[in-house]
Amino acid sequence: MSNPLPAPPLGECLNAASPLQSTPPKGERRGGRYFLFCQGDILLTKEGTIPCGDTPPIELKPWEEVTVLKHSPKGGAGRGLLVGLLSHPVTDREDLQMVPLRKTFHILSAEDYQLAGKCAELVYFHQNSKFCGVCGGEMRWQTEISKQCKECGKELWPSLATAIIVRVTRGDEILMVHAHNFRDRHYGLVAGFVETGETLEECVQREVWEETQLRITNIRYFASQPWPYPSGLMVGFTADYLSGEIELQKAELSDGGWYKRDNLPFLPDPSSIAYRLIMDWASHD
Ligand SMILES: [Zn+2]
Repeated sequence: MSNPLPAPPLGECLNAASPLQSTPPKGERRGGRYFLFCQGDILLTKEGTIPCGDTPPIELKPWEEVTVLKHSPKGGAGRGLLVGLLSHPVTDREDLQMVPLRKTFHILSAEDYQLAGKCAELVYFHQNSKFCGVCGGEMRWQTEISKQCKECGKELWPSLATAIIVRVTRGDEILMVHAHNFRDRHYGLVAGFVETGETLEECVQREVWEETQLRITNIRYFASQPWPYPSGLMVGFTADYLSGEIELQKAELSDGGWYKRDNLPFLPDPSSIAYRLIMDWASHD
């Protein structure tokens, strides 16, 4: 299905440095990939892939274009990547679909899912950095991923909300909790945002203490995960129980306790680092 109004060539809307506009080396695939968002959803093809081609899959207004990234997937030719924020969801195209970003974990490749998350974070950054916090001047893109104030020159990069998540174990048991704000009945791990002036390890100890009144030891880094909901970084740790009896922080948690491998509660979504932490433990005796 073709667009009723063909979109202008990308080069007309983008600055001269646009990788989409440059002449591709001989043999390189022409065109770009389009990471287009609307109200927390991302536009995918009916087949569940990121739209790509010489022109956008739908007509884009100039103000719907957020930024352009250079991106060269492993082993593939470099193609420009246009990030956009649509004014309205696409609902009238049989060849396209809007999908909640979280669900694309199960649809896109791991690489594309992470890339889509990065693009979503840049859209969030764009929406929340229109004007300079120092002088109120207009912020304009300076690099692919940063802005600068037109008036006073202040530079601004997307800020990450950093949170820790920790798997606490005691013998053959794991500490799992259910928070009031969980959207389903799953149980997760103790987690919380890092505060200013705090190390990650201090945050791990503080969160475990605040949520359960337990003392822990042997805190070790596990892995990290970008969490683009809307702009976070989850840093995963493991730790051993040291002392104390569980006293749940009632304002935040509705339930929690020690669980064994053969008696685990409803688990978090596989897209989460909590799931990875739990499965990593469950798969080792
Ligand atoms: Zn300024």
